[in-house]
Amino acid sequence: MKYESIIGLEVHAQLLTDSKIFCGCSVSYGADPNSQTCPVCLGLPGVLPVLNKKAVEYAVKMVLAVGGTVAPHSIFARKNYFYPDLPKGYQISQYDQPLSTGGSVEIEIPESKAKKKIHLTRIHLEEDAGKSLHSEDNSYTNTSSNVKQKGETLVDMNRCGVPLIEIVTQPDMRSPKEATLFLNKLKQILEYLEICSGNMEEGSLRCDANVSVRPIAQTKLGTKTEVKNMNSFKAVEKALNFEMERQIGIIESGGRIIQETLLWDAEKELIAPMRSKEESHDYRYFPEPDLVVLKFHPQTISGIGGIRSEEKFGTPTITIVEKIKQSLPELPEARKTRFIKQYQIPEYDAELLTTEKKLADYYEECVKNYPNSKAVSNWVMGEVLRELKERKISVSEFKVPPKELASLLKQVDSGTLSGKMAKDVFVEMAETGLSSEKIIQEKGLVQVTDTKEIESVIESVLRENPGEVEKYRSGKERVFGFFVGEVMKKTKGKANPSVVNQILKEKLSS
Ligand code: ZN
Ligand code: MN
Repeated sequence: MKYESIIGLEVHAQLLTDSKIFCGCSVSYGADPNSQTCPVCLGLPGVLPVLNKKAVEYAVKMVLAVGGTVAPHSIFARKNYFYPDLPKGYQISQYDQPLSTGGSVEIEIPESKAKKKIHLTRIHLEEDAGKSLHSEDNSYTNTSSNVKQKGETLVDMNRCGVPLIEIVTQPDMRSPKEATLFLNKLKQILEYLEICSGNMEEGSLRCDANVSVRPIAQTKLGTKTEVKNMNSFKAVEKALNFEMERQIGIIESGGRIIQETLLWDAEKELIAPMRSKEESHDYRYFPEPDLVVLKFHPQTISGIGGIRSEEKFGTPTITIVEKIKQSLPELPEARKTRFIKQYQIPEYDAELLTTEKKLADYYEECVKNYPNSKAVSNWVMGEVLRELKERKISVSEFKVPPKELASLLKQVDSGTLSGKMAKDVFVEMAETGLSSEKIIQEKGLVQVTDTKEIESVIESVLRENPGEVEKYRSGKERVFGFFVGEVMKKTKGKANPSVVNQILKEKLSS
């Protein structure tokens, strides 16, 4: 029997604000454990949360980017559970009145090129919990204050109160592959909006999945399990494939799937049960009494910046949501379409160049300074991406500014450099961050275009190889490449190839 999986995802994305959602603590990643905490995020008695305006704006950006509906008013709720990394004993989240409902993200199935909409149930705001560090983990072992014994668990509260949006999808995905396609798209949108770094390994994008399987013709849904702890795109696909196979195995041997939460173990590549699934009533949700209703009025948001404060936004004719909408950047799909039209490049190029906003920016900046858009595209897709990959860096860390790449390409056109030399110079630029002019000067790399000089080299090559000349003249034209090679050797690759070809042809036919 053939089976399909029914997958719904809950994605948590850390918002790139400077401070936490309910206090002023920094959210920067990699700080010493427990160095970014205060009474509010540690949940000490008597403190009051103050909602971060930026976090609300970022969340609204995401809602609008995926075509969701911002609720005119939403409320925060306490989600109660006991865990060492949750000092308050509850997480401030949203429950029955979330920030938004609806919206969708479109994925493209690579084989069929078919487009498919993954619908969203909701997007809500919440705070992150801290992090338990088990002694098997390698993290923090080099921090002297955190020497750990085997079997010991320490807790880092830096992450408590980091703003999150939780994006909940409908069970629209039918395979682990579709789930990773969706996640990639989501990451791309978050990155374009510049509201989340999208780094799964650092935990700024996390994903839990609800998975069930059923025979393909069946309409009734099977029992679902929840899979957690998938820390990379690869892990998501592997874990979901594993879970799908596991469930099929149970069904085929006549067993029953138990509704439970499972943890993916990336090292052992298997899934283990965590705890039996809580029903939502186990969390004893109730409205957060320390925060007021989050309301989007035509001109203001209330509920931000303290209990009774109200802040006025912009001109009185547009709503705040409208204002955020106008601030949205061009999104990946739109940018791709524009690239194809404006720069006359193939869809393949446009797709690749717009995968990341910063890469697309790099490309456009370069074309501004060197208008041969296809040549730039080839260089960015080839040389630039290769250097980034080899150096394991992002576009923003890349040492060659787009203007410098443009000026390098201009030098190829003017004949100062051969294509081959330009590639070598480019590697050097990526390594040192120096300008192409500087490198060319230091290495004495200027291409020889002086016909007199090239002519004399060609003459000596022909003199030294009378046998080959004879062969060429008797019709063996492939010897031509040999002569070009010899000339290049003598000039250390600096001779302008088209000048060499031209003079060689003249000399050999005379
Ligand atoms: Zn704090
Ligand atoms: Mn959550």
